[in-house]
Formats: sequence, C-alpha cells, structure tokens
Amino acid sequence: MADTNLKVAENIAGKWYVDENCIACDSCISIAPDHFVMSEDGSHAFVTKQPESPEEETLLADSKASCPVDAIGEDGE
Ligand code: SF4
Repeated sequence: MADTNLKVAENIAGKWYVDENCIACDSCISIAPDHFVMSEDGSHAFVTKQPESPEEETLLADSKASCPVDAIGEDGE
C-alpha cells in the first residue's frame, strides 16, 4: 500500500499520488498519460493531474492496479 508520508515531492496536490517506492516502470504513464509524468531524471513517476470525472477516476484506478510495487495511493487528502 502506498504511504502518504513517502509521497514524491512533485505530485500535484490532491488525493492521488506516487510514493518513493516507484521503480519507474512506466505502466501508469502508459495507462493515464494525462495524469502521470516521469521525473526529469527518469527515477520515478508523479501525479500531474488529479481526476476530474468518473472516467478519469477509472484511469487512475487502473493505473494503481497495474503498479507492480503498489506505489500509487488515493488517500492523499
Ligand atoms: Fe512507478 Fe508504479 Fe507508475 Fe510504475 S506504475 S511508474 S512503479 S508509480
């Protein structure tokens, strides 16, 4: 389970976030490229846009389910 105390700094404010356990596999970005971005140094992803519709919530949920290290959380707020 992702940990709000380990959020990476770049996450935009809101309930969805990536934490420090991210291994930069790219899965979340492939599924939801409008919501996740890779850091400049390629070491981790972060949330760049919170979902604003049920469809976008589903994209984020699918991304969370695809994360191999459970680094995506939705309990940020
Ligand atoms: Fe990181 Fe998980 Fe996204 Fe892969 S799916 S880039 S491990 S947050």
